[in-house]
Amino acid sequence: MKFNTKVLHAGIHPDPSTGAIMTPIFQTSTYVQDGPGNHKGFEYARTQNPTRQVLEENLAALENGFGGICFGSGMAAMDAIIKLLKSGDDVLATNDLYGGSYRLLVRLFQQFGIESRFIPMQNTDYIQSQIKPNTKLIWVETPTNPLLNIIDIAAVCKLAKANNILVCVDNTFASPYLQNPLDLGADLVLHSATKYLGGHSDVVHGAIVAKSKEQYEQLKFIQNASGAVPGPMDCFLILRGIKTLHLRVQRSCENAKVLAEYLLKHPKISKVLYPGFPSHPNHHIAKAQMKDFGAMISFDLKDGQFESAKKVLSNTKLFACAESLGGVESLIGHPASMTHASIPREDRIANGLTDSLIRLSVGVEDIDDLKDDLNQAIG
Ligand SMILES: *Cc1c(COP(=O)(O)O)cnc(C)c1O
Repeated sequence: MKFNTKVLHAGIHPDPSTGAIMTPIFQTSTYVQDGPGNHKGFEYARTQNPTRQVLEENLAALENGFGGICFGSGMAAMDAIIKLLKSGDDVLATNDLYGGSYRLLVRLFQQFGIESRFIPMQNTDYIQSQIKPNTKLIWVETPTNPLLNIIDIAAVCKLAKANNILVCVDNTFASPYLQNPLDLGADLVLHSATKYLGGHSDVVHGAIVAKSKEQYEQLKFIQNASGAVPGPMDCFLILRGIKTLHLRVQRSCENAKVLAEYLLKHPKISKVLYPGFPSHPNHHIAKAQMKDFGAMISFDLKDGQFESAKKVLSNTKLFACAESLGGVESLIGHPASMTHASIPREDRIANGLTDSLIRLSVGVEDIDDLKDDLNQAIG
């Protein structure tokens, strides 16, 4: 089955009892057994839920993995993955990554003896030089957030495999429509389904797809043992969002391409970060591992001022000033004061995340309206 068919059909069947074409929302906490231990495969809803199960099967198909495991948020999904590790283990993570991922690794798991180091991952030799005997996990986020660097997933996985290290790719920014890390050698892929998978800014949800049965079973165990499961209504909303994933992401990418070129020519803008430009340092990797270049754009203002960036964000009318990304409506954000405020300023600036950097999540509105809005807001 091709991707555009999988979004609608993989793991999804009409309800056998009624013929309902939509997956029912099984809003139940328990299941009646014919006799003790004599059940239909469902005992208690933390452990199994039929709505969630359909979503997990669909996600496994979209990412070409063995199985999907769903959680109440992207961070809960990441939390489950870090619990595969033990005290004394070392994590190498992308230096330019989602602020909440940094916070979870540093402020939560460090106190349990799991060490994390944040490094640039564009150069594979450099990653190799950073591997220690206790390095057990490489955490890759690509495109990176908010600098939109591209990391060569296949090259990182090759290196990791040679050193017996697990690789997880946070695929939230690309979505499974644009990029499938398991096909490139990754062991696990993580999604904040809150973003492109849900796509309508109406639900918080997270998911993992595991390539192997072994890791799938370990994560299923953690899902049930720790219990950070999503509710059935949320699973239904993600399933509904996925039905149009290919159409939404395709249109968003088309709009982003036009806006990136417009911004590049703007006299008040010093640089535009967008992997679709042939001049982008990792353009060739993006071209090889992604179907299109995504719908996230970051740009910096010539005057470099925190206040000037904030003014642009207050002036837009269509681009809503909000955290998050991947919804049908376009959003504008200021990483330094919003999504990345939890990263110390020196670390932020050292990584190129300046005070005047602005990030766009381009939606599916009419391109002329989006362009006009940025034009009037930047001035
Ligand atoms: C939003 C996001 C997360 C966290 O997901 P939640 O659903 O908000 O918990 C993780 N990684 C990336 C890249 C994100 O954008």
